[in-house]
Amino acid sequence: MGEEDKGEGRGRIAEAVRAGRILLGDGAWGTALYARGLAQGECPEAWCLDRPADVRAIAADYIEAGSDLVGTNSFGANRFKLEHYGLAATADRINEAAARLSREAAGRARWVTGSVGPTGRLLLMGDVTEEELEEAFTAQAAALLRGGADAICVETMSDPTEAALAIRAARAAGAPEVLCTFTFDRTVRGDYRTLMGTSPAEAAAAALEAGADIVGTNCGNGIERIVEIVAAMREAVGSAPMLAQANAGLPRVVDGRDEFPDGPEAMADQLEALVEAGARIVGGCCGTTPDHIRAFRARLGQSPG
Ligand SMILES: [Zn+2]
Repeated sequence: MGEEDKGEGRGRIAEAVRAGRILLGDGAWGTALYARGLAQGECPEAWCLDRPADVRAIAADYIEAGSDLVGTNSFGANRFKLEHYGLAATADRINEAAARLSREAAGRARWVTGSVGPTGRLLLMGDVTEEELEEAFTAQAAALLRGGADAICVETMSDPTEAALAIRAARAAGAPEVLCTFTFDRTVRGDYRTLMGTSPAEAAAAALEAGADIVGTNCGNGIERIVEIVAAMREAVGSAPMLAQANAGLPRVVDGRDEFPDGPEAMADQLEALVEAGARIVGGCCGTTPDHIRAFRARLGQSPG
């Protein structure tokens, strides 16, 4: 992918939102990988090198369903998570391939957002230093950008400090835009906190302070709760666009696999409420499929791009 292709015809994601567009993201990657035969305990990101046609096809399915933005199969492709599979040395190649495969599916008209997930190492517990995290995130973002990502999406975060390090690393690696989403659970009080105890407003403020252009929430326990989280985040976000990608409900384990209850139309029924709450980029997380994205596209109307 040559430099001349970067951003051609696409512009910035945040600018498209500010121009009034509601953008459609993609759905789940893990769910799609399992559907294509990923085994429990297998490294999902290794498929970027071992099963590239399948990875490209997942991105292509979302593009075909109507996504304006498509992610990459790199959620756990930081060196700490890859170490677990003995693959830390191939981290750069995996991330570069992840972005290239999504770019091949997205063409020039759609955005590719390079997925960066948590490392699984806890700063608070002394598992890792800030410098080590920053180094790993910078390498990951740089490889995703080399592969053709338009932006870096730091996602499913719980710790605002780790998120801030990933955002700063993405900036340092030269990301033109950075998106950041956090995952929240409902507390017994009925409000929302990340696993680290951070509220939606605190999380958004930390991400913006670190330099994120777009903030929001993903994963969690279904789109109705995501609507509440977006509403809780809205004031802290100010003029930054908000991104919301909900799970297809709470999974139940059936035959060792997660099964998700919310179908495409049931989720699409909540889109209006989600946009009303303030979300401007919508999509799915665990359990959502190209059929969900197709149903969302039908409700949102055709993209001009
Ligand atoms: Zn999820």
